[in-house]
Amino acid sequence: MALVTGGARGIGAATAERLAEDGAAIALCDLDLAGAEATAGQIASRCGVKTAAVRADVSKADEVERMVEEVVLRLGSLDILVNNAGITRDNLIHKMTEDDWDAVAGVHLRGAFLCSRAAQREMVKRNWGRIVNLSSVSALGNRGQTNYSAAKAGLQGMAKTLAIELGRYGITANAVAPGFIDSEMTRATAVRLGRDPEEWKEERAREIPVRRAGVPRDVANLIAFLCSDEASFISGQVIYIAGGPRA
Ligand code: NAP
Repeated sequence: MALVTGGARGIGAATAERLAEDGAAIALCDLDLAGAEATAGQIASRCGVKTAAVRADVSKADEVERMVEEVVLRLGSLDILVNNAGITRDNLIHKMTEDDWDAVAGVHLRGAFLCSRAAQREMVKRNWGRIVNLSSVSALGNRGQTNYSAAKAGLQGMAKTLAIELGRYGITANAVAPGFIDSEMTRATAVRLGRDPEEWKEERAREIPVRRAGVPRDVANLIAFLCSDEASFISGQVIYIAGGPRA
């Protein structure tokens, strides 16, 4: 069974569907329960797997513990965790507030920590598991994203340490670091910058070596491979997926 956080839409929803195509039962957690239920319903009817949707804020320890208990009860096990839930609160450093910092660190770093801690207990029991953290090319630095780039770099370090600690239990942990992927997140950024999302996407695509923006399915395919048995010797790695060496 695979648990995808922030799975109602975007990269999370595409990843859940891709893992379902490989036969995994799917649990989606999101702040938006209606959205997660709708996505879970579509995946169940398209792929014929069991699904569950749970409302949880990944930055809250009690909600994460309850969520993991509930999905294990409903779907029987937890073998794959994709730490995908994410937000942005962009601002230049001189304007960035403590709330901007705490919100981003809370969802990405604390969220991935809480979910990994809860999920690994289930994985250790079965001596098999896969953890994938969503990092970003922003981990290499990006103007206006002190909070987000620090969190995304932190998720890489977290994956490497989880790989070291959990490898003996048949658990791998890796980070995938996407470049520009067309999603609500990037569309909201365009709107915030006063740009038309389609025009902004085309402009960004011209800077990408393969001359297109990424789509959620591009990232989902990579995550599905890392979660397969074929990837059991790949652990503690960061894989950039950006249509070139860096977006
Ligand atoms: P998205 O469309 O904004 O989806 C993010 C999902 O996370 C939303 O459904 C959101 O739910 C959920 N979420 C936010 N805070 C949450 C919380 N505290 N608890 C549970 N769920 C929460 O974003 P995306 O583009 O698919 O991005 C997915 C991941 O990839 C993120 O970690 C992002 O940083 C990373 N990434 C994206 C890109 C890109 O270009 N799109 C590039 C690199 C990395 P609500 O709507 O209910 O808040």
